[in-house]
Amino acid sequence: MSDLNSFLVNGEKRINLKDCPTKPQDGIDKQKTIEKTQRNLQRMGEFQDKLYSEGKEGLVIIFQAMDAAGKDSTIKHVMKGLNPQGIDVYSFKQPSVEEDAHGFLWRCANKFPARGKMAIFNRSYYEEVLVVRVHKLYENAKIPDRCKKGNVFERKFEDIKNFEKYQYNNGYRIIKFFLNVSKEEQKIRFLERIDLKIKNWKFSASDVRERGYWDEYMHAYEDAINATASKHNPWYIIPADKKWYARYLVSQAVVDVFKKIAPQYPTLSEEAQKNLLKDKKILLNEK
Ligand code: ATP
Ligand code: MG
Repeated sequence: MSDLNSFLVNGEKRINLKDCPTKPQDGIDKQKTIEKTQRNLQRMGEFQDKLYSEGKEGLVIIFQAMDAAGKDSTIKHVMKGLNPQGIDVYSFKQPSVEEDAHGFLWRCANKFPARGKMAIFNRSYYEEVLVVRVHKLYENAKIPDRCKKGNVFERKFEDIKNFEKYQYNNGYRIIKFFLNVSKEEQKIRFLERIDLKIKNWKFSASDVRERGYWDEYMHAYEDAINATASKHNPWYIIPADKKWYARYLVSQAVVDVFKKIAPQYPTLSEEAQKNLLKDKKILLNEK
């Protein structure tokens, strides 16, 4: 737990992204960290099995980040520990016409898993207070003027907080990760995507355009994280320049939330146990 506390934002105090590290502290042993991640992945699998068997609580894990911060590869890594039958991954890209014709929470609310299951959101309703804010997309949206007036984003933060509270009150936990990559490391990764043929497909011209809005994005992230971090639906600001470290912290945060959920295999009633013994007898007496 202690490893993670310094990256946890739970609404108790305001964070400033400038003070948040993008790299591991000196002296952190890479090999040992990788081993700890492996153990966490195994524990996640065990917890997930119990979560599913119990069917009481759902878990949604949100990843938000600048391009090339490692959302995809972190998700791929975390998934290694989990049973695909109990988890779905959704990517939220530019909204479709149908999605745009609804409130911004609609498309994500629709993807909340049944209790007992998990979902990973690769981007999420937070885009509404990030890209939409940075590019003032709401100004041209087909919505009444009253929705464009006043403090638009304070209202959206309120909507998100209320939505997350609603989910918590209905048996869900949401953990939110901001993969905090540095601007320098993003440049290195972009150049690699350009130079390496097998990575070309990952690069799009809009990535460089968006990089030009770095400061605006940082401001939007900082505001969104501060406004929506709470005890039950915290944010983690994960140093993301070293993938092995980011993966460890993410796996640890997921293990920690599972510990809070504390799922248990259902126990059988006396009656049901007696029936099991009867069935056992039948099986053993088969000719
Ligand atoms: P990768 O680049 O790693 O493949 P990605 O998540 O960046 O993954 P892209 O298809 O490159 O996927 O980008 C999706 C784009 O959709 C992002 O630029 C994101 O900001 C944008 N987007 C997501 N939600 C919204 C929204 N509600 N309104 C406008 N744009 C959105
Ligand atoms: Mg992209």
